[in-house]
Amino acid sequence: MTQASTPSPGSDLALLGSAPAFSAPLHVGRPNIGDRERLFARFNEMLDRRWLSNNGPFVQQFERAIAEYLGVRHAICVCNATVGLEIAVRAADFRGEVIVPAYTFVATAHALQWQEITPVFADMDPATHNIDPERLERHITPRTTAILATHVWGRPCAVEALAEIAQRRGLKLMYDAAHAFGCSSGGRMIGGFGLAEVFSFHATKFLNSFEGGAITTNDDALAARIRLMTNFGFVDFDKVVHIGTNGKMPESSAIMGLTSFEGIVGLIETNRRNHEAYRTSLAGLPGISLTAYDPRERGNYQYVVVEVDPDVSPLNRDELVRVLHAENVLARKYFWPGVHRMEPYRSLFPHAYLLLPETERVAARVIVLPTGTAVSEEIIGRIAGVLRRAQEQAEAVREHLAALPART
Ligand SMILES: *Cc1c(COP(=O)(O)O)cnc(C)c1O
Repeated sequence: MTQASTPSPGSDLALLGSAPAFSAPLHVGRPNIGDRERLFARFNEMLDRRWLSNNGPFVQQFERAIAEYLGVRHAICVCNATVGLEIAVRAADFRGEVIVPAYTFVATAHALQWQEITPVFADMDPATHNIDPERLERHITPRTTAILATHVWGRPCAVEALAEIAQRRGLKLMYDAAHAFGCSSGGRMIGGFGLAEVFSFHATKFLNSFEGGAITTNDDALAARIRLMTNFGFVDFDKVVHIGTNGKMPESSAIMGLTSFEGIVGLIETNRRNHEAYRTSLAGLPGISLTAYDPRERGNYQYVVVEVDPDVSPLNRDELVRVLHAENVLARKYFWPGVHRMEPYRSLFPHAYLLLPETERVAARVIVLPTGTAVSEEIIGRIAGVLRRAQEQAEAVREHLAALPART
């Protein structure tokens, strides 16, 4: 390579001094907005009614729509998935130690630690990025009461193996389904597995209610307890029968959620097409592989997840992310560096990484790329083009990065 480490007009990479490939930033998780007219009509209806929260008609309608779509008996809307996890975990009486994946969003562990339940981190199956049922068993102690597993990227966990272990070892089982709205396992919609599943409708997620989430379950008694706990334990005016918190979803969120829900068929199609376009465009780039979704399952294709093999790709994951950011492609390194390396877990369990080799390896390789309605086949082609040119000019890129101050 002949490129100099100083900005070089001869290069077409923004990192090396050219204009960025995109004039405006392309974000991962850019919110999908549904039909505005329907949204505003519903807002007017809400304002006319002056029923803004406390199990309003839009929340009730949203809950019915979710339960029907997922084929579950109960869907309880909540203000966000983190509070939903806290409530569900407490309603199911988790205590002591609970086994969780280290490769997940930090809220999975926080929901436990927040109420003084100890998260115990288990390694992933590198083929699926989900908690590995076999490796999980070594973490079971006499204090273990439950497993809280995440369907990472919306790809279903090994639900049968996990149910078998839970049954055999006398553990409760619940799922963080924050990524998995619209996804199936063995043809059954996620939402009905384990004791309960918790979805996120955060603005950046596939189905968006500004902030929000839902707990789904087929257990009537658990659902009743969750409902009580979501609303301070109230059963009637002035009558509180249970410990509770305020986990209620407001009407404004249910309106956004319902409107977003009406658009999911089109959104899944857009995401699926984008995923296919990425597959075609990235094919042949050395050491770069796109995570696949099982075509026999239903999926929302919300995450475009690429793994960079540093032994094959001329540039490693971190170098490629720096290149992409310079081009205004704000790719993310989820879930780097792993929850076990975030506080307070890092200080509490400084040796956890020793039993998490696959999590450590994969967390250092993943790039999540933008998708959804903000990108098109043409844009995807340009993103792939950036990666290709970066690999071709690997030496110049590396030299340039070495001269810059360190950044993470
Ligand atoms: C987003 C997310 C959460 C938290 O959801 P909120 O609705 O933002 O509280 C929990 N777990 C996972 C895996 C997530 O991705």
